[in-house]
Amino acid sequence: MSEGSGEGKRVRKTAVVTGGASGIGRAVAAELLRRGVHVTIADVRGAEEAAGDLGCAGVACDVSDARAVRDLVIGVAAEHGRLDFLFNNAGIAVGGRAEELTLDHWDRAIDVNLRGVVHGVHAAYPLMVEQGHGHIVNTASLAGLTPAPLMLPYTTTKHAVVGLSLALRAEAAAYGVRVSVVCPGFVDTPLLDNANPGLPQTEIGLRARTTAVRAQGRLYPVESLARDVLRGVARNRALIVAPASARVTWRTVRLSPALAVRAAGRVLRRITG
Ligand code: NAD
Repeated sequence: MSEGSGEGKRVRKTAVVTGGASGIGRAVAAELLRRGVHVTIADVRGAEEAAGDLGCAGVACDVSDARAVRDLVIGVAAEHGRLDFLFNNAGIAVGGRAEELTLDHWDRAIDVNLRGVVHGVHAAYPLMVEQGHGHIVNTASLAGLTPAPLMLPYTTTKHAVVGLSLALRAEAAAYGVRVSVVCPGFVDTPLLDNANPGLPQTEIGLRARTTAVRAQGRLYPVESLARDVLRGVARNRALIVAPASARVTWRTVRLSPALAVRAAGRVLRRITG
């Protein structure tokens, strides 16, 4: 992932990956590094240690803090003279039955999963418009395309990220800026062992990993997803949905939302029964 400068020299591309210390973000960062991209991972915890392991730059950054995200994005762009990719990937799992969730569950999901993406877009998009190129890649979820129950704050924020991404993509094309949104099914990452972080725990939250396995069968390997993501980015896909079982679910939603709600109800009874 490099391009000619017009003088025969190859220019190394530059990427920022939020939530890059763990799981999907870390695997995407590793794939980008393999492709010769300058990578800066940003994370609320463990950024420096993970960056040391990966051999890239690492910055402590809470994506719910707009100023911190702005400093991160502007800083990386200033250092390298360009910003080619922003992966707005940081996120948390928030789950439980709707009646037991507190406003703190809702606020935290909105602050990290939605505002975190808004902050990234707000900081990077004008800069990319000015550059005349750049690619923003937001991580939503299959839960952003389907009526996924038992995790309403999560489902709500991920639907919002899908809407934001597709609408921005339509605007951005005129400026040469690309926007994609990643919608994975359940992926084997620490997220599934750490639902409701810093929030009142719920039975569903405690059983997130077993619930995911019951709902999907095998969890998708994170390295496979990272390769899917970079393939989708290279092809400038609007939506990157993986694994194949997630694409089947997504097709059902498009075919008949009513059928998808009934199917979600059946899955819910299977995993809670
Ligand atoms: P993960 O827990 O392994 O990684 C998430 C990273 O985000 C962690 O390093 C965490 O410290 C960081 N983070 C959390 N809050 C943050 C904040 N406020 N500021 C900065 N960093 C923060 O989880 P993952 O599975 O790799 O999740 C990455 C993204 O993929 C998330 O947006 C998640 O919703 C999405 N996703 C995950 C799955 C799955 O099954 N694992 C499925 C669909 C979508």
